[in-house]
Amino acid sequence: MLDVIVVGAGPSGSYASHLLSKSGFSVLNLEEHKEVGKPVECTGLVSQRVFSMVKSGSRVNDVTGATVYFPGGGSIHVEKTEKTIVMDRDSFDKDVSAMAISSGADLKINARVIAVKKDSKGIDVTYRENGERKNARSHIIIGADGINSRVRKELFQERPGRIVSAYQVDSAHRMEDQDSVEVYLGSEYSSGFFGWTAPSGNITRIGVASYRSAAIKHFLRLNSRFPPNKIIGINGGSIPISHVKRTYSDNAILVGDAAGIVKPLSGGGIYTGMVSASHAARASIESLESEDHSSRFLSRYEKYWKSDIGMELAIDGIVQRYLFSMRDSALRNIYDILSKPSNISLINRLGDIDYPSRIVFAMLIRNPSLVGHLLLRR
Ligand SMILES: Cc1cc2nc3c(=O)[nH]c(=O)nc-3n(C[C@H](O)[C@H](O)[C@H](O)COP(=O)(O)OP(=O)(O)OC[C@H]3O[C@@H](n4cnc5c(N)ncnc54)[C@H](O)[C@@H]3O)c2cc1C
Repeated sequence: MLDVIVVGAGPSGSYASHLLSKSGFSVLNLEEHKEVGKPVECTGLVSQRVFSMVKSGSRVNDVTGATVYFPGGGSIHVEKTEKTIVMDRDSFDKDVSAMAISSGADLKINARVIAVKKDSKGIDVTYRENGERKNARSHIIIGADGINSRVRKELFQERPGRIVSAYQVDSAHRMEDQDSVEVYLGSEYSSGFFGWTAPSGNITRIGVASYRSAAIKHFLRLNSRFPPNKIIGINGGSIPISHVKRTYSDNAILVGDAAGIVKPLSGGGIYTGMVSASHAARASIESLESEDHSSRFLSRYEKYWKSDIGMELAIDGIVQRYLFSMRDSALRNIYDILSKPSNISLINRLGDIDYPSRIVFAMLIRNPSLVGHLLLRR
């Protein structure tokens, strides 16, 4: 009987596997694809906090600024001293996975989990490895298997409530400004979310995420701002922007995208996924040491991650609902307020891609009229 089976070798699964193996527990990490890190469905924009968790050579560019475009042609530019990293997501995932293997995790690729059953003694997992049906048993299972999680389907029967669809390309277009990402707000470029560009040398990642309508429609409009016939790769996918109500069960834990533990304002899930993985590893270790794998015991996992990032995700979720359901006229009003020099310098000082609520609170205190615009959405 294994201590833990981790399903999925994305950043959340590999990081949980690493932390558990490093502490001496037996870990089987199952990954359905033939290669960790492929296919890439990500812009690869993360804070330095992510790189303090993993030593990785996947950094391709550092950005310090962001230009936000509003409907009607207005734009604001914000600048941070702290760098945000644009990374090569494929090699980042491989680096986290390599770390897990070095710590002793047993990774099996081309190994797709097809059934998960709980019985009185633990968890029974059926998977297909290179076409061959196999079984493994463990005390605990960690579902790190992304938005369409099989573990969640079999043991939790709940889906994240809010999901956006994203469409992104790699364009062979070199942005003149390599130090800034761009964000596009308004109905032209998204319904309920936003469009973006991220410079990474000779390639620019151009994407759109949309809540209520197909992202491709908005993407075509955004892409028409850039030179034609430059697309060298297309990717995309779904991003959960709200988490499931319960992220633990008897012998089971959900982390990262599988649980919907993602930043609701940006759709960024690498940092939050790895934070949830670290709390999952801690709760699993305590559970294995106490020989108690009950739902009651594992409920501490949810307490751990929520006391760390739960409040941030809750506040950002509320702001996301208001901000991204605004009409263009309302966004123009927001622009009028944010573009004041004093507000720009506040954003420069307090902006943080992992903890945006700080700037939201500071803005609302300094500009009480924002509350009215947010609530009335006009
Ligand atoms: C277009 C796009 C751009 C994005 N940009 C950013 C960004 O810039 N910054 C950021 O922080 N986040 C970004 N995200 C979100 C980010 O990609 C995810 O939040 C992140 O990948 C979550 O990591 P994870 O390990 O939880 O899940 P995943 O990375 O989805 O990993 C899940 C793994 O489980 C495997 N798996 C699934 N089912 C099974 C099964 N049955 N058996 C075995 N293995 C299985 C999958 O193959 C996969 O390897 C973006 C997402 C999209 C779609």
